[in-house]
Amino acid sequence: MSNQMKALVKAKPETGLWMERAPVPEIGPEDVLIRIKKTGICGTDIHIWNWDDWAAHTVPVPMITGHEFAGEIVEVGRDVKDLEIGQRCSGEGHLIGKTSRQSRAGKFHLDPGTRGIGVNEQGAFAQFLRLPAFNVVPLPDAIDDEIGAILDPLGNAVHTALSFDLIGEDVLITGAGPIGIMAGAVARHVGARHVVITDVNQDRLDLAAQVADVVPVNVGTDDLAETVSNLKMKQGFDVGLEMSGNQRALDQMVESLVMGGRIALLGIPPGKSPVDWSRIVFKAITIKGVYGREIFETWYKMIAMLENGLDVRRVITHRFPVDEFASGFAAMLSGSSGKVVLDWT
Ligand code: NAD
Ligand code: ZN
Repeated sequence: MSNQMKALVKAKPETGLWMERAPVPEIGPEDVLIRIKKTGICGTDIHIWNWDDWAAHTVPVPMITGHEFAGEIVEVGRDVKDLEIGQRCSGEGHLIGKTSRQSRAGKFHLDPGTRGIGVNEQGAFAQFLRLPAFNVVPLPDAIDDEIGAILDPLGNAVHTALSFDLIGEDVLITGAGPIGIMAGAVARHVGARHVVITDVNQDRLDLAAQVADVVPVNVGTDDLAETVSNLKMKQGFDVGLEMSGNQRALDQMVESLVMGGRIALLGIPPGKSPVDWSRIVFKAITIKGVYGREIFETWYKMIAMLENGLDVRRVITHRFPVDEFASGFAAMLSGSSGKVVLDWT
């Protein structure tokens, strides 16, 4: 193996990413080296591409971006047990410490010292990725590389959707981005009654209806209350999954929930946004913030569901060889794509 590789690098503090040569990472005794096969482009990568305020304050330059990947183990560190060369895998991109109270309690996803690959540490948009063996998630044969490459955002959807019991419940999802759409598929899979998904972008609502058995509502043109009445729901939605980061969407969700309803918040508002707290208090609504995925319970559940009929493949709308990465980013920047997958083989 030559000791140089191709990598998509945030090389300069300005808009764009650059395909460069970089050294193949050296692994430590508890790491593995993964040959990357497919990667997914995330909204986070778009922030880094655009070099917005968040990116400029968070990401050191130069940085290999990317955290959504599938590949194959090509080298294992001296102290790594239970993983072998040739193992197909994806992996958790949040690198956690083992000494915090949360980690020692087994709640790895709540470790306050979490660092993200492709954000704080060299990432997966490269021919090779170094990853702690702890973070590796082996892939069963039933999960191919392109699905393996979107397990990170599917994990966000699963973690959010499984925050509350959805069996027999009426669920409102605000935001038909890739994660909202996949959450719709998960909600149906686990037995929700009605799943309504809202957006203001008709392309995305059309995609949602192709991927999952959900009721799409364009809240830019249509009245959500009409859908509620058409579905013969008596009081409103039992559970809300907020996946837009838009303040009006959250307001509408609070308005459309039953007394005692529950909200899982994944969407990230661009800054501080005003919230009508008294409405939330008087409706006795429970709100849960959701970050990342549960390490590794979310991974276990999503792989089990994928092996048992959960199908999100149609959320992938664009596939490009990695040398055409600019087209992939253009598709994402259009705001109407589903998942975009880059092929590194
Ligand atoms: P996305 O930006 O692709 O999708 C958001 C969608 O919300 C867009 O289609 C947009 O048109 C829609 N929207 C805008 N205004 C709306 C309104 N008033 N009502 C309904 N929909 C509206 O995002 P994504 O990649 O699917 O991710 C979803 C959200 O989750 C984003 O806010 C993202 O930043 C956040 N996120 C959070 C975590 C976490 O760990 N908490 C992880 C990944 C993503
Ligand atoms: Zn992601």
